[in-house]
Amino acid sequence: MKEVLPAPGPAIVRNETKRIRELFEQNIIPSYARFDLVLERGEGNYVLDIDGKRYLDLAAGIAVCSLGHAHPEITKALTEQSRKLTHVSNLYYNELQGQLGKRIVDLIAPGRVFFCNSGAEANEGLFKLARKFGHDDGRYEIITTVDSFHGRTLAGIAATGQEKVKKGFEPAVAGFKQVSFNDLDAMRRAISSRTAAILVEPVQGESGITIATPQYLIGLRKLCDQHNLLLLFDEVQAGHFRTGKFQSWQRILENEGVDLVLDAVSMAKSLGGGFPIGAFWVREKFANLLSAGTHASTFGGTPLACAVALKIFEVIEREHLAENARQVGNFLFTQLQEIQQRFPEILKVIRGLGLMIGIEFHPQFKAADLVKELHKRNVLTVPAGNSVIRLLPALNLSHAEAEEGLRLIEKLVVDLAGKE
Ligand code: PLP
Repeated sequence: MKEVLPAPGPAIVRNETKRIRELFEQNIIPSYARFDLVLERGEGNYVLDIDGKRYLDLAAGIAVCSLGHAHPEITKALTEQSRKLTHVSNLYYNELQGQLGKRIVDLIAPGRVFFCNSGAEANEGLFKLARKFGHDDGRYEIITTVDSFHGRTLAGIAATGQEKVKKGFEPAVAGFKQVSFNDLDAMRRAISSRTAAILVEPVQGESGITIATPQYLIGLRKLCDQHNLLLLFDEVQAGHFRTGKFQSWQRILENEGVDLVLDAVSMAKSLGGGFPIGAFWVREKFANLLSAGTHASTFGGTPLACAVALKIFEVIEREHLAENARQVGNFLFTQLQEIQQRFPEILKVIRGLGLMIGIEFHPQFKAADLVKELHKRNVLTVPAGNSVIRLLPALNLSHAEAEEGLRLIEKLVVDLAGKE
C-alpha cells in the first residue's frame, strides 16, 4: 500500500534522555511513575527510543495501538479526513459518526452509541445513565467489584475497587460500593433498595487479567432482571477484538448457548488505535434515557476520530485480526504455561484470553522491576498489581513476533531462576 507521507528517516542517535527527563521534572505534573525510556518513533510492532534502541512492543500503549505503530492506512485516513473536516461540534450531524455508531450497534445488539474521548469519560456516561434510570424511584447506587478499574475521574475512582486510587481524594462520590469479583452471592447480598445498576469488567485488566466465569456473567443478568437493575460492562481494556470477539463477554460466553443482552457497555483504547476516542453503547430500551441536553462532549465523535476508528474496523475485518488475536494469544498463553511449569518457583500462574495475558510471578518479584528488566532485553510490557506483567500487544502481532517476545521473557525467567 502506498504511504501518504514519506517514511521518517533512521532514528537520530542523540543520547538526550537526561535532558528530556529534566524537561519533564520542570514542566510536567509528576502524577505518573514513568520508566526511564524516551520513545521517539514506532514501526509496526516495534518502537525506537531516542538512542535508536529498538523494542518489541507487547504493551501497545496499554491495549491502545490496535494496529501497531505508524500504520499506513491510519496515516492515510487521518491526513485525508483532516483535509476535509476535522471538527464541527455535535450541534450538527456528520455521517462518519453515524456510520461508526452503526458498526458498533451491528456488533452488539439494537441500541445507540454516544461518543466521547476516553475510557473514564465513557464510564461517566454509564454512571449518568444508571442515575437517570433509577432517579424517579430514588435509586442511585452502582455496585462494582474489588480489584476493578474504571478510570481516574472522581466518579471513576469511586467506582474502582482499589484503595490506592481513592486515597487523598475523599470524600468519595456517593453511591458506589464494591464486592468480590466472580462472587454472585456477594453481589446478591449487596443489592439494596437504592441500587440502580451493576458494573463489571468481564476481564479485569489493571489488577492483572482476571476473567469472569460464564456463570458469573449469566448470573449477573438474572440478578439484574430480578431486581430491575441495569447490567453495565466496562470493556475499555478488554474490548475491540482483543480477546477474539468484539467484546470480551461475547468471547467468554461463546460456548454457552446464551445470547446475553446487557444494558450498556463502555469502550475506548483500541477503538481509535492511538487517536483518542471513547464510546458507550446503550440497549435500545434505555437509549432515550439520555435525552437532548442531558449529556455532551465537545470533542465526542469528531469526523477525524470517526474516520480513524472506521478505518480500524475495516482493517481488522479485512485482515481477520480477531482470529489472529485468538490464535496468537493462544500460542503465547500455552507457551507461557509451559515455561511456568518448568519454573514454578519463579512463575506463579499465567492467565489470559486472546491478546490479553497476565504473567504472575511470585510476590518477591516486583512488577515494575520485571518490566524494567525486560526493557534491557528490548521488549515493552505493562506492570499490573504487585507481581504481574501484562501483554496487551497490537491485534496484528505476528506469530514470529510473539515467538521473539516469548524467547525474551523465557530468558528473563531462566536468569531469575539462575540467581535464586
Ligand atoms: N476502564 C478500564 C477497564 C481501563 O482499563 C481503563 C484504563 O486503563 C479505564 C477504564 C480508563 O480509561 P482512560 O484511561 O482512557 O480514561
